[in-house]
Amino acid sequence: MSLKNAIKEEARRLGFALTGITTPEPPPHWQAYEHWLSLGRNASMSYLSDPRRADPRLVLPECRSILVLGVGYPQPGPAAQNHAPRPVGRIAAYAWGSDYHLVLPQRLKVLAAFIQAQVGSPVPIYWTTDTGPLLERDLAQRAGLGWIGKNTCLIHPRFGSYILLAEILLGIELEPDAPFTSDRCGRCTRCSAACPTGCILPDRTLDARRCLSYLSIENKAEIPPELRLQLGNRVFGCDACQQACPWNRDPKLPPDPAFNARPGLPEPELALELALSPQEFKRKFKDNPVLRSKRVGYLRNVAVALGNAGDPAALPALERALQDPEPLIREHAVWAVEQIQKGMGIH
Ligand code: SF4
Ligand code: SF4
Repeated sequence: MSLKNAIKEEARRLGFALTGITTPEPPPHWQAYEHWLSLGRNASMSYLSDPRRADPRLVLPECRSILVLGVGYPQPGPAAQNHAPRPVGRIAAYAWGSDYHLVLPQRLKVLAAFIQAQVGSPVPIYWTTDTGPLLERDLAQRAGLGWIGKNTCLIHPRFGSYILLAEILLGIELEPDAPFTSDRCGRCTRCSAACPTGCILPDRTLDARRCLSYLSIENKAEIPPELRLQLGNRVFGCDACQQACPWNRDPKLPPDPAFNARPGLPEPELALELALSPQEFKRKFKDNPVLRSKRVGYLRNVAVALGNAGDPAALPALERALQDPEPLIREHAVWAVEQIQKGMGIH
């Protein structure tokens, strides 16, 4: 068996269902990406402007090939109406189980050791998932794993877009796979039509400043008042542009068990969430992506979702939140109380 095939087989054994190999050249969309940054569409995510993203060899100078890997996570299915007896929130599907930033590096480390052992001499190597300064989707497209859709997600022609990516940069030459060259979005515009804030732009980028995924996770400040209604019951992330995509209709990639939903997720009861103490929050979301937003960001989102649910039964929980030590939570609880009172005809 060739070294390339042995590496791919070991990657699949470790749970990376998708494997592709590409060359270390600069990513094809770098200029469009720089333009996107220049317009400030990365919002407060300054780490996205790391200049090393221009060329993988700025990350690993000896890089001669790149192994791009993908694993599936649970598919949330099409958007559904909420019929729960008490208002519940909605957590994006990638965050239902363990945090992939914790799970995947353990596997990458094993795979890197396997490669070193196969080669029989030290190989310059760098691995990452999501947090490294790489344009991951560009590399995945060039490694043959799919195309970048109008919703900006990497879409595999058989497996859809509920995929987490990881990369290993290698100081050895491996035969690259054929890039994925076709664009299968065609004339479809379902993702832009489904986006609650209209932040998917005609140039195939999105404006993070209006994206609910950004606003509910990375954003550390308030949810802009003019976008709070659009948040709906989303308390961490947003799947709308993937749920609308026809390529996700019959996904065939079995979700990796590490990312299966924990008890109580993906639809936590909002009034109970709003009462989480700092210790309870940490315990509940230990090793889960929701920890990223911290209690303050999560309860900010929960308060908005309760305001959007408009259920007067939530008023006592919101009134307790008005005493929270975090000003951000208090401010959003005030907004939620006003929303519910408006619905009752009080304002
Ligand atoms: Fe729009 Fe939600 Fe997709 Fe962001 S994640 S682009 S808000 S549909
Ligand atoms: Fe492409 Fe349509 Fe999917 Fe959007 S919804 S990414 S336009 S196929």
